[in-house]
Amino acid sequence: MSRPTSLERSSDEARRRTKIVATVGPACQDAPTLRAMIAAGMDVARLSLAHATLDDTLQRLQLIRSVAESEGAVVGVLADLPGPKVRTSPFPPDGVHLADGSVVELAPADGDDTSNERRIAVDLPAVLENLEPGDRVALGDGAIELVVHDVDGRRALAGVVASGWAQGRPGVILPAGRLAAASPTDVDLRLLRALAGAEVDAVAVSFVRSPSDITRARDALDEAGPMLVAKIETQEAVDSLEEVIAVADGVMVARGDLGIRCALEDVPHYQKRIIRTGVAYGRPVITATQMLESMVRAPEPTRAEVSDIANAVFDGTSALMLSAETAIGHDPVNAVRTMGRVAERAEREFDYLTWGRNLGRQQTVEAHRAPAPVRITAAISAAAWRAATDADVVAIIACTNSGDTARAISRFRPTMPVVAATPSMRTVRQLAMAWGVTPIPTGHHGTTDDIVWFAVQATAAAGYVRSGELVAVLVGSPTDPEPATDTLRLVRVR
Ligand code: PEP
Repeated sequence: MSRPTSLERSSDEARRRTKIVATVGPACQDAPTLRAMIAAGMDVARLSLAHATLDDTLQRLQLIRSVAESEGAVVGVLADLPGPKVRTSPFPPDGVHLADGSVVELAPADGDDTSNERRIAVDLPAVLENLEPGDRVALGDGAIELVVHDVDGRRALAGVVASGWAQGRPGVILPAGRLAAASPTDVDLRLLRALAGAEVDAVAVSFVRSPSDITRARDALDEAGPMLVAKIETQEAVDSLEEVIAVADGVMVARGDLGIRCALEDVPHYQKRIIRTGVAYGRPVITATQMLESMVRAPEPTRAEVSDIANAVFDGTSALMLSAETAIGHDPVNAVRTMGRVAERAEREFDYLTWGRNLGRQQTVEAHRAPAPVRITAAISAAAWRAATDADVVAIIACTNSGDTARAISRFRPTMPVVAATPSMRTVRQLAMAWGVTPIPTGHHGTTDDIVWFAVQATAAAGYVRSGELVAVLVGSPTDPEPATDTLRLVRVR
């Protein structure tokens, strides 16, 4: 009989290596539901500022933090900036059906306005002035389509040509070239500063088109700000993918808007490219949108949705995201549980060894382009993967301040558990979205020997390794003026 691996010994949540990001909205913003979502496997809570005010978002952030703390769970919080997207005022909570052939008025939103099946209020009225008869306007992820019949100043009459269910505040997608506002907007930057002040763990920047969109957001922050996640949802971002990923801390395959702004049939191929490139750069990649869409209303997913989740795991995604399924769905807990089950099953089929070997080769070819500390961490993490595999260690322990060392080794998708030992609680929460990484807090220590000793002890105390077992430890020198992870040790647990 083969000996049980540490993965088999550890808890259920630790066994799944692909992380789950769940959007928190009206359907789950209470402590009991959040508690149940954490128990079901939510690793990161997403707060969408396109659908909530800053005050509501900060209240939800506090609630999530206090529920996670009372559960002794690590839950990262990702706030998602609205970007320059035009949206409708809210439809009624249960949504309305916009029927084929019906006529709706598109009107400027006014204060606490709402939308219904006869009148749709739009939050950027200036765009209505630019509409022309014959224009096609889509709602949400493009499923509902209208054709403009008549325009009268800031109002337009349109006929529904593709029917659908309108819920929440769907985006309004206009004909190409009618809206070219830059991202991040001034509102985004104000929100970003407030979110950084509240110590949110990560912020997603919407409608990124070039690396300078991310650097503009970073320049608005102090040094120890949140991770910046680039949402890839425009053709321009796809066209400069490597440059955007190089300056971001994480990436999201934002398939909803990507499928509107690019050819729909390109989406699965872009998904693979974004994941491959993001992982090679050591950035967590979140695959998002419509993963379990039918579960907004139904208790079971479609077979196509189950296959989609499994395929995203095979593509190598770090995390899978739920949007409306948890924010406004009828059973957010079941959606999280279902996603976890499907991901865990897919992971059993994944060929991790081939993935690690291929990434090792790619690293060797591309290493010369990176700055020195990045090259050192990349080289030592590749060596750690090789040594951990050859020596059959039971766990890899990454000693890290920023989380970069843990993300660097996570790229290789090691078969054994990866534990990140860090003195920073923010890093603990930020690693909640890194593939296969279990973050545990440790103290500050002044020498490499002490860092290694205390990290191994903390990992053993947490139940991931036992006395006599062999572990690989990655560590840097705490006194190095140009910090890089430059040491690999194989250590037998005392
Ligand atoms: C998307 O478009 O896929 C996405 C995640 O963005 P949002 O839900 O914020 O529109």
